[in-house]
Amino acid sequence: MGDVYRQHLRWKTHLKRVKPHYAVKCNPDPEVLRLLAALGTGFDCASKAEIEQVLRLGVDPSRIIYAQPCKTKSYVRYAAKQGVRQMTFDNADELYKIKELFPDAELFLRILTDDSASLCRLSLKFGASLDTTGELLALAKKLDLNLAGVAFHVGSGASDPEAFLKAVRDARFVFDQAAALGFDPKTLDVGGGFVSETFDDMAAVLSAALDEYFPPNIRIIGEPGRYYVSSAFTIACNVIARRAVEDKELNTTSYMLYMNDGVYGNFSSIMFDHQHPIPRVLKASGASDRRPASFQYADGAENNAYDAAIKPIQYSIWGPTCDGIDCISESWTCDQTLDVGDWLYFEDMGAYTKCSATKFNGFTDRHETVYISSEAGASALLGY
Ligand SMILES: *Cc1c(COP(=O)(O)O)cnc(C)c1O
Repeated sequence: MGDVYRQHLRWKTHLKRVKPHYAVKCNPDPEVLRLLAALGTGFDCASKAEIEQVLRLGVDPSRIIYAQPCKTKSYVRYAAKQGVRQMTFDNADELYKIKELFPDAELFLRILTDDSASLCRLSLKFGASLDTTGELLALAKKLDLNLAGVAFHVGSGASDPEAFLKAVRDARFVFDQAAALGFDPKTLDVGGGFVSETFDDMAAVLSAALDEYFPPNIRIIGEPGRYYVSSAFTIACNVIARRAVEDKELNTTSYMLYMNDGVYGNFSSIMFDHQHPIPRVLKASGASDRRPASFQYADGAENNAYDAAIKPIQYSIWGPTCDGIDCISESWTCDQTLDVGDWLYFEDMGAYTKCSATKFNGFTDRHETVYISSEAGASALLGY
């Protein structure tokens, strides 16, 4: 929780103008949402269930943006009933749908971006290209709908700061198009895509672009997901089975370790989010110290002998299901002997992990979550 809290303070330092609306899909953990609600962020929801979860925390509907350009009709009715007015669109059919179900909605036109340098591309699926925005805005005008702003997303796990610069420029173009049609959009939504490791650089480029193209009276919001939660979660898993693999020619033994969680579970980020989680040893109860008994630390010569004597052991790490695709790591070396009952842990497991896990093969008993707070500010808000 302290990690989430620190990321929030960091956001406020580097992106002062941008009010974060946490993308719930990234990790709808109830404690994370509770902390962010207490910190006063907004929320980006994409379904009825996500909106419900956030409203149940007592968050005002005005702090929610329904940021899914192609919405289920019954969900639009639900949003209208709850007073969740802000929503995105990127096509004409959606405008007719909104006209019918929620004509007072505050609409954000989601524009296409160049997301080719991102981890998970979103513009293959969503976003109006700049040669269609004029027509869409004209239709919105004809239908007497309310244009609140423009939205974009540079792709999840963005790596090119230029993508933000170009998207802000394009958004300016659409703001001007809208003004020419008699609209007065008040908000720019810069989406998500921020990665903790490169955040400061991205934020600098984005802030400069915002100041160049959008005067201070324009409200700026963002929809960060992974930025807030990626490093906040560490997962520990248990070795449930081990298989020794002998190589008779090389006279070596490697091991396949089977864990109680895998690609169909919390490691879904390997498939869906192109991640490569790094194993670390939490508890090895067997022969964890493979140094010869006579080994002495102080002697340099003996150290060399030790290095030569301790050959790292080769492992591959697998999930618990019967599918061969369920592999966490094809090759990992470790100088400790690991066996059934031992534990590994993996850091940075907060984004796009548990939320996209399945119940495949009946492995539904997926971990207890232990919450700790390393920041007094977070503890105070959460009552820890
Ligand atoms: C997924 C998504 C986000 C969050 O993206 P991150 O890369 O996790 O920051 C924000 N907005 C929309 C519309 C999304 O689909």
